Amino acid sequence: MDDASPIISEADEQALLDSIDRWLTRKVAPIAAKYEQADEYPTELVDDMCEMGLFGALIEPQYGGLGLPAITYSRIVARISEEWMSLTGFFNSHLMMALIVQKFGTQAQKEHWLPRFATGELRGGLALTEPDAGTDLQGIRTVAKRDGDVYRISGSKLWITNSLEGSVLAMLVKTDPDAQPRHRGMSMLIAMTRDLETGAEAEGVSRGKKLPKLGYRGIDTGGISFDAAPVDARLGLVGGEEGKGFLMATGGLEIGRVNVAARGVGIARRALKEAVAYAQIRQTMGKPIAQHQAIQLKLGEMAAKTRAAELLVEDAARAYDKGGRVDLEAGMAKWFATETAFEVATESMRIHGANGYSKEYPIERLYRDAPLLMIGEGTNEMQRIIIARQLIARNPA
Ligand SMILES: Cc1cc2nc3c(=O)[nH]c(=O)nc-3n(C[C@H](O)[C@H](O)[C@H](O)COP(=O)(O)OP(=O)(O)OC[C@H]3O[C@@H](n4cnc5c(N)ncnc54)[C@H](O)[C@@H]3O)c2cc1C
Repeated sequence: MDDASPIISEADEQALLDSIDRWLTRKVAPIAAKYEQADEYPTELVDDMCEMGLFGALIEPQYGGLGLPAITYSRIVARISEEWMSLTGFFNSHLMMALIVQKFGTQAQKEHWLPRFATGELRGGLALTEPDAGTDLQGIRTVAKRDGDVYRISGSKLWITNSLEGSVLAMLVKTDPDAQPRHRGMSMLIAMTRDLETGAEAEGVSRGKKLPKLGYRGIDTGGISFDAAPVDARLGLVGGEEGKGFLMATGGLEIGRVNVAARGVGIARRALKEAVAYAQIRQTMGKPIAQHQAIQLKLGEMAAKTRAAELLVEDAARAYDKGGRVDLEAGMAKWFATETAFEVATESMRIHGANGYSKEYPIERLYRDAPLLMIGEGTNEMQRIIIARQLIARNPA
């Protein structure tokens, strides 16, 4: 972002965060565990998030969005993740698709897609991963062949969030499977996967089943296949040019990493809060466990790491809002905050003893949700490699 960097007054941001807090306390907290344990799509909560404008949180106001800066967005994501992380996936995956259009689309594409993305009338996500290609995105096999005014997509995507209940996807495809280097043959298409009038699958599209997952439940992550599925070339080929898809998928979307890092902050914060409260109530050897030094050592480390994660996420979000590439800052925040989420959730569970293993306490959900963060938006192995490459690029010998 540049001079048009979105800004929001402190008072407006506080009012927005307060309204989200009220919704979390009154509506989400009493029912999250029910949906999570049943792995059921929480339609009523998704509808609420549409009404609150979260599906347009990062879309510019001229297209009907809230146009929030990354710093406000990261605070929203962290707060919601304290209550139930899955909820952030519904609008974040959708916004990654929207940002591809906002950042790289033609004017006609922005006008066509963004207002409908902002209201949540059209909801979807970003489809990169395939059965045989995750980290190595250039190894995807889904192809799109030009056929007059349309592209025809054939292939399968897997592990795609919002792919089953949603109606549209930003799809990374090969428009020239023989290109060398491979990324030159990759393009990004916006594809309708559902006929909005009938609710049926769009021509050539078949949805797979919802994948049963360790955590991040409720949200529809699944597989989706395409058999010569048509996509309007003018409105579908992002930017109107083939060969730019890899750049769109990997470049300039550091907000995805800031989002995952903010989820980590939410998980760590809640796990810490639960541990601090529990340690003062649970007694052993005649005193609260919080008075045993072994527990104090854990709490001290958990608190310091959680605060460090918060600060790294703020740093990355502020850098993003200033503009330019922020792979280094986003990578550091993503790696540290998500490793911290997992560590703090694990320690909190141990502090809870057997109760940490019970579905009647929130800690077991935090513990199951945390590992996803180390995998999504670039695995944590890759993040450290990205950090190192950026470090070297910014400090040539
Ligand atoms: C719940 C969930 C939701 C998801 N939602 C989406 C979605 O909406 N859209 C989407 O496109 N994808 C989604 N994904 C997929 C996710 O982005 C991929 O799982 C991720 O990119 C890793 O790819 P992979 O699983 O194929 O692992 P692989 O690429 O097979 O990696 C396996 C291991 O090898 C390591 N590794 C791989 N290459 C290297 C290397 N060069 N150097 C060092 N280490 C390496 C990895 O870090 C990892 O530890 C989702 C996944 C999950 C679990």
